[in-house]
Amino acid sequence: MADVTLRGVRKSYGALEVVHGVDLDISSGEFVVFVGPSGCGKSTLLRMIAGLEPITAGEVSIGGRVVNDIPSPQRGIAMVFQSYALYPHMSVFENMAFGLKLARTPKAEVEQRVREAARILQIEPYLDRMPKALSGGQRQRVAIGRAIVRNPQVFLFDEPLSNLDAALRAQTRVEIAKLHDTLDATMIYVTHDQVEAMTLADRIVVLNAGRIEQVGTPLELYREPVNTFVAGFIASQR
Ligand code: ADP
Ligand code: MG
Repeated sequence: MADVTLRGVRKSYGALEVVHGVDLDISSGEFVVFVGPSGCGKSTLLRMIAGLEPITAGEVSIGGRVVNDIPSPQRGIAMVFQSYALYPHMSVFENMAFGLKLARTPKAEVEQRVREAARILQIEPYLDRMPKALSGGQRQRVAIGRAIVRNPQVFLFDEPLSNLDAALRAQTRVEIAKLHDTLDATMIYVTHDQVEAMTLADRIVVLNAGRIEQVGTPLELYREPVNTFVAGFIASQR
């Protein structure tokens, strides 16, 4: 677990600024959800926290350490994307073990961590299968498993359920909530789905055009939206 702090974080692509000075304090172990319309900067913010995208201005800290100049693999984070690109020529076990092997983790520990993650995600029966023999939901669990085996302090999810059908989305949402309880990790989760946000979040960050409109618990946003944009966001789920 680690806290995550953003101070005056900005992002420009060429002359175009798309994130305009974001300040945010995320506590250790918190489940924070970023919501907002398409193009408002959710993925960009997440990628800057992950170190996949340089920060134009400001500061990102993870666990009290400024990480602006620390490469992604050393930030203690793991990211799960919506397109769960598994290696097609590797088994589920190998897919989950790959990153650990690259990091020269001892073989017995690789085995132990992969089996533990598979147990938590209930994909033990599929460890020897190839990705093409799995359903979409099972593949997404393998992708989450690849994140878990690395024992990250912070999990970053970018619309992880958007490729799943409604029933599977609801089921996987519940599993992610359980995962948060089990692993006791800090989670930052991007979605444009209000139901996901309202059910998963300790706190929701409502973004609009590269700025934070409001940060609050689901109940706070529901009871006291600060403006019509936030109110509209809450209302649109009913
Ligand atoms: P969201 O994830 O909320 O849909 P993004 O963070 O992907 O939004 O994008 C925020 C804004 O930045 C959008 O206007 C998008 O067009 C722009 N953008 C994202 N990536 C790039 C890029 N590599 N080059 C130029 N503009 C980009
Ligand atoms: Mg996005």
